[in-house]
Amino acid sequence: MKTHEKTSAGKELTQLMIKSYLGDFEKAQNGAFVVWIAIMVPAEIFSGFDTIVYSIPESHAAMNAGKGVGPLQCEKAENRGYSMDLCSYARIDMGSVFDQGKDSPVGGLPKPDLLISNNNNCSLLVKWFEVYQRELNIPHFIIDVPFCYASQSKKNLNYIVKQYWEMIRLIETMSGQTFHMEKVEEAVRWTGEALKHWKHFLSHANHRPSGITAFDTFVQMAPFLTMRGTKELADHYAFLAHDTQQRVEKKIFPVPEEKYRLFWDNIAPWHQLKNMSRRMASMNANIVGATYTSCIGAVEGTFQRYEYDDSDPLCSLARSMNSTVCPSGLTLRTRAMKDAIKDLGIDGVVFASNRSCKPYSLTQMDQAKMIATSMDVPTVMIDVDHADVRNYNEENVFIRIGALLEKVDEGRR
Ligand code: SF4
Repeated sequence: MKTHEKTSAGKELTQLMIKSYLGDFEKAQNGAFVVWIAIMVPAEIFSGFDTIVYSIPESHAAMNAGKGVGPLQCEKAENRGYSMDLCSYARIDMGSVFDQGKDSPVGGLPKPDLLISNNNNCSLLVKWFEVYQRELNIPHFIIDVPFCYASQSKKNLNYIVKQYWEMIRLIETMSGQTFHMEKVEEAVRWTGEALKHWKHFLSHANHRPSGITAFDTFVQMAPFLTMRGTKELADHYAFLAHDTQQRVEKKIFPVPEEKYRLFWDNIAPWHQLKNMSRRMASMNANIVGATYTSCIGAVEGTFQRYEYDDSDPLCSLARSMNSTVCPSGLTLRTRAMKDAIKDLGIDGVVFASNRSCKPYSLTQMDQAKMIATSMDVPTVMIDVDHADVRNYNEENVFIRIGALLEKVDEGRR
């Protein structure tokens, strides 16, 4: 099987995402209350209301980058004075908003009534949402989430839950809708179920050759962001895990002659998914996992699944605010990565130094040293920008990846 052929789960994903985006527009047109949220805001809470549509500018920006219109949208923001040094997600989405959704693959996002951001991934995100607050003249609720150098303390968890309640009361006031906790309990159950299947899907990277590539995981993470807390999400991830398992049983592998098993650190290079996966496969190299998608459904310092407690949904959702890499300190990030290297039998790590996402990239030099010295696993640093292809040089990147593979070969001699 060729790496770029769509699997059955890949085809289902396309249908699901089209339905999700179109459905949001339809609900918004029919009077639903619309919120734009940062990626980490737990969307299960919105299930507690009758009709809330939520949209995620970061996901929208990733989609634009994946469809090849990242630079076009970036330039619209840059022409309004926003620096090229700002995150490309922000520039892309602002460009789209400034141009009323023109050039977006989905025509932009439904017009929002409320903005909700958080500050544990980065502070730029809050400033980005502030631009919309001014531009659209609507309220902006910021969830203040403490940065995480160790396991989340009870005090910090309670602090986040308290803010969830403030957010719920604000939505009740603005939308006129009543909040029902039992609906959130159900949504959290579906998310827990979905994550169980997600982790099963990822576990096929343990097989030799791997049943998946990190690129599959990048593509398949989309509905986790846009359809959290739904049966459709759980059903899709169940199908994804099952479909992957069947292909492994039939000995259909993305890189059949897999010689190098690599691990990726940073956000997906959305504009390079096809190119990069093809070139890696042509070298019999497979990036079998990534911090970016392994952290989904886990909490700080580990990639193991965190079990949601649906009887106390807001606490579980507060705990999940520490699930991504950016809000974690060096020690926690390195611990999770070391475990993944051991579990997956990784030969080398590709640290993608991301010009746009400084918070993700900040610790990479230290992590690379720690991995190379304590585990004797070679690493390489490549320059990328996750959504702005103008800051990416394919040949430079592959020269470095080639050097990494040589180091792996040297270590085997
Ligand atoms: S800088 Fe990184 S964490 Fe912040 S919005 Fe951009 S991609 Fe997200």
